[in-house]
Amino acid sequence: MDSNIQMIPPQDKLEFWDKEYESSKNSRLSKTKTTDTIENDQTQPKLDLLYSSGKVNKLDSEVLDNELTSLLEEPLYSSFSYINPKFVDKWKTELQSGLQGLLLFLSFSSGKNATYGQKMQNLTYKTDSGSTKRRLYLYSVALVASNYGWQKLTFYLSDKRWADMPMNTMKYRVWRTVHLLEKVFRALTLANFILFISNGKYKTILERVFGLKLTFSKPQFFQSVSFEFMNRQMVWHAFTEFLMFIIPLLNTTRIKSHLTRSIRQAVGLPPVYIDPEISSLRNGLCPICYTEEMDKAKETGIILDEFKIATRCRITNGYKANCGHEYCYVCIKKKMSREGTSCSCLRCGNVINGITSI
Ligand SMILES: [Zn+2]
Ligand SMILES: [Zn+2]
Repeated sequence: MDSNIQMIPPQDKLEFWDKEYESSKNSRLSKTKTTDTIENDQTQPKLDLLYSSGKVNKLDSEVLDNELTSLLEEPLYSSFSYINPKFVDKWKTELQSGLQGLLLFLSFSSGKNATYGQKMQNLTYKTDSGSTKRRLYLYSVALVASNYGWQKLTFYLSDKRWADMPMNTMKYRVWRTVHLLEKVFRALTLANFILFISNGKYKTILERVFGLKLTFSKPQFFQSVSFEFMNRQMVWHAFTEFLMFIIPLLNTTRIKSHLTRSIRQAVGLPPVYIDPEISSLRNGLCPICYTEEMDKAKETGIILDEFKIATRCRITNGYKANCGHEYCYVCIKKKMSREGTSCSCLRCGNVINGITSI
């Protein structure tokens, strides 16, 4: 007990420490102003930070919502196409708007003020005043109705060719006004997006009109989707993009024929499989034309008689390959360019790398 009492400093010393603490706190504040402001000022700066940050999450949530809609659209359309294939073409806009409206209604009526994509990104809508729920329903109606109305209007105008009407007619003037309105809307959207990039408050014009701000629903978890998952997603995305770019550049026929040739040679077989029917084909007939005709006959179920074979497979503009067998010029040239600069002869299996006119 005695030692504890002795540890308490006398009054003047306490004042000294108070002053020291104050001065050190001030210097710390001036050095790291931004972080301290967020920690110390309880209300406005913290809210501003929440509104402005997470722009990527807000944009991501829109992408997720669009993905979800397109995922649901496909089975919806295919289910209708079984009943009546023309139904989807006729009522596509209505189906799209109906689905969009239903998704918005289901997500807002489930007790949370966020769409499914926004929930995944830990976001929720907030308003400065008034009932958020009521505004969200009004926002949904406005969003669906404006999308539907605009699509119908532009489709009607282009279908009836109002743009091609004489310039002094009412129809042309209506088309010009609509065209002008579209330009204005696009300019406003761009301006809104620039504002969103700078302050992160309203993602779309409609959100601005209804005063709906997106904020984090649980500020302590800024991002509910883990970075590991996003990273993997990005790697896969980059990989598939690369494949989509590289696959059309690959000559798959050439790779396939090259592989088959080398594998067959490795196991001691002739370079290609020679169909006895083709190798015994009489002179004057093109083996490539014959194969094509046989394939066609198999598909259609029509039997090829001798006369048909003789007329359809006769060599046109004949060329002799370096192995000594004859083909139509077009047939052999096509085969050679498909498989690179050379190809295998269908009659003998040797490599053809040169042709001469008969
Ligand atoms: Zn031919
Ligand atoms: Zn040959």
